[in-house]
Amino acid sequence: MNKSKIEGEADIHISKQSKSIIYSVLEHENCENQRIPINPNVLTFRDSVLEYRYSLSLLCQKGNNQDKSKEFKNNLLMFYIFLTSYIVITITTSLLLYNEGNQKDELLITRLIILGVILFLGYSIAYLIFKSNKFLMKSKELFVVLSFALISYLVICDERVLSAIFSKDYEKNSQNHTLILACFLVMIRIVVFDSFFLFVVLTTLTLTSSIALLLALSTLSPFAILSDYLVLFIFLLLQTIDCHQVEYRARQLFWRREQEEEALDPMASQGEESDKAYAQINTEVELLLQACDKIKQNIKQAAAVIMYKDVKTKLKTAQTEIEKVKRGIAHGLAMHDVKLDGNGELDEDDKVFISEYCMDKISSDKARGRHQTMGDVREISPSFPFSTYGVAELDSVLFSVGKNWNFDIWFVYQVTGHSIFIVGKYLFEKWSLSTTFSIPEDTVDRFFQTLEKNYHQNPYHNACHAADVLHTLLYFLSTSDVIKNLNPIDIISLIVACLGHDVGHPALTNRFLINNRDELAFQYNDNSVLENMHIAKTYSIMNKQGCNIFENLDADDWSKSRKLIIQMILETDMMKHFEILGRFRARAVNLADLALENQDDKILILSMGLKCADIGHSSKILELHEKWTSLVCEEFFRQGDLEKQRKQQVSMYCDRDTTEVPKSQSGFIKNICMPLYEVWCSYLNNEEINKVCLEQLKKNLSFWDEKVKVRRSTALNVDNSVSANGNDKK
Ligand code: AMP
Ligand code: ZN
Repeated sequence: MNKSKIEGEADIHISKQSKSIIYSVLEHENCENQRIPINPNVLTFRDSVLEYRYSLSLLCQKGNNQDKSKEFKNNLLMFYIFLTSYIVITITTSLLLYNEGNQKDELLITRLIILGVILFLGYSIAYLIFKSNKFLMKSKELFVVLSFALISYLVICDERVLSAIFSKDYEKNSQNHTLILACFLVMIRIVVFDSFFLFVVLTTLTLTSSIALLLALSTLSPFAILSDYLVLFIFLLLQTIDCHQVEYRARQLFWRREQEEEALDPMASQGEESDKAYAQINTEVELLLQACDKIKQNIKQAAAVIMYKDVKTKLKTAQTEIEKVKRGIAHGLAMHDVKLDGNGELDEDDKVFISEYCMDKISSDKARGRHQTMGDVREISPSFPFSTYGVAELDSVLFSVGKNWNFDIWFVYQVTGHSIFIVGKYLFEKWSLSTTFSIPEDTVDRFFQTLEKNYHQNPYHNACHAADVLHTLLYFLSTSDVIKNLNPIDIISLIVACLGHDVGHPALTNRFLINNRDELAFQYNDNSVLENMHIAKTYSIMNKQGCNIFENLDADDWSKSRKLIIQMILETDMMKHFEILGRFRARAVNLADLALENQDDKILILSMGLKCADIGHSSKILELHEKWTSLVCEEFFRQGDLEKQRKQQVSMYCDRDTTEVPKSQSGFIKNICMPLYEVWCSYLNNEEINKVCLEQLKKNLSFWDEKVKVRRSTALNVDNSVSANGNDKK
């Protein structure tokens, strides 16, 4: 008994060995079995757009919908050679027979008329297909009509049917059409790209109509008729099975190719690539990610055709590894992100020591217990101090802070003389932040009032801009439910970040300050000069006696909040725009792995939110957008005036005498706002935001583009009339 068991084990061992030596050959269908959204009965894609794209891929060349595909042209050529030869031969034979007196008048005329009509119909279809894309896409249906006509002719003009109809004997002079029917059905199969559904319909129609006609009319024995058609039936049955397999495989291949393209370019799959009116500007990181995607795709394609199991396994592992490399790149090659968790040499105390002294890290929520999220917080309707202004509309206007995309901060400013103070106080009351963080009421008042006072009365970079940016960010967060994943610390920090993000702005750009060797540029070593100054100023205001709203925060919350505020404000530096956009796109689109539960990701998302809110006026209703635009332009022009005064080169779009505002705005929206908003809105994935925000952005772009056009055509007319006048004078 023992012996046999041992022998058994040895057998298993040998068979395992031989398997690995011989290599098991995998069947394609088994290893690539994918679920495709196909209706198996009629072999069509369930999604009509996909179905349309499939037809397009068969009929047209890839990437060029105007040119017919090579395969389609070849199929057409074969079909028309066959059709023309058959008709020409039949007509010639009939004429020869007629000349010899073997063909009856009525038969010759019937044949000539029907074949003439079919030939005309066939060539009309070819003409229409080549003339218009609309008919090209309907080519299957057109060929069905043609086939219907030809099949009817072949069935009715079969010698046996004609003999029965005219009670005459045509047997000596005309053809039995069984063979030609089989050939013709095969040709039809080719020209409709093995469409299983059409082939089944045409085959069934042909067989039933001809058998029924013959059985009903012919005097031949039913057995003779059926045995004749039995061969045709078996041939067509085999053709039908083959047709199903070919079409299924073609659709499966098409689906796989679509999936691969989608994986390589997720934006294109949303149909967004084609109508983009701006150049995509990518960072090095994004290009590396795209290269990784291409490598992964190539490996995947190679794996699909490799038949050796162990090579296939290695290629699959390579795909996983590439995915890891991608993550590493997208997370910033994380040189500083030292992994302590998997290190068995370190005990918990060592880890805390290293993270506190050697790493830019603060302890996580998990370590200190979970904070409340804003989803748990009950909103209340604030009453003070807004009722003191005696303006009934103010309440409802403030109610729309963060709720109505087109909230008008200027109204609040006009009736109260304040912006930051009113909006900040309103939100603190709404979310009971003073109670949550034990902040005395007068500290809150003093902080917001001092912050507001520290904004200069600039055309654009003033306290109203800061309050408006806060409203815009809150709209994004609360409309998309992101707010439900934020805790009160995040909320109070983002309020401070938004309201302080431009404090003390001198109405001059970073470039101006750096080029003019300004004291501020020296202080911050030319690096995000203004943004560093805004952060420092916000904190120094908070440090003033009676202004410290963060006084009662514990050390962990304070550091967390500070990290968030610093990064949010630093990322409003437009000089780093493409770097920041590229990093966010890499995470939100290429990897799609952003998680609000992760503190670093949360900072990334909120910073991007503030960055978008900062230029939010570009997607507000035209009335607001135009107002903010004229203010920002006025501020640019004042800098230009200063540059002229100092005899310096005037910065782009800062010369009030030469700047074409519509052109500058069209460029700003097209190249800066649109790519940013598309990525941000696709991350938020909310219909309302897409509607109010993206659509308005496009409307505003058309508004400026229209102005550019009008201006150009007016300039052209003026030029023409000047040159015409010149010619007249000559
Ligand atoms: P911030 O200075 O933080 O408000 O950053 C936003 C920047 O976007 C501004 O400094 C401007 O340079 C720029 N910006 C905003 N609106 C416009 C506009 N309509 N045209 C051109 N640049 C704009
Ligand atoms: Zn700003």
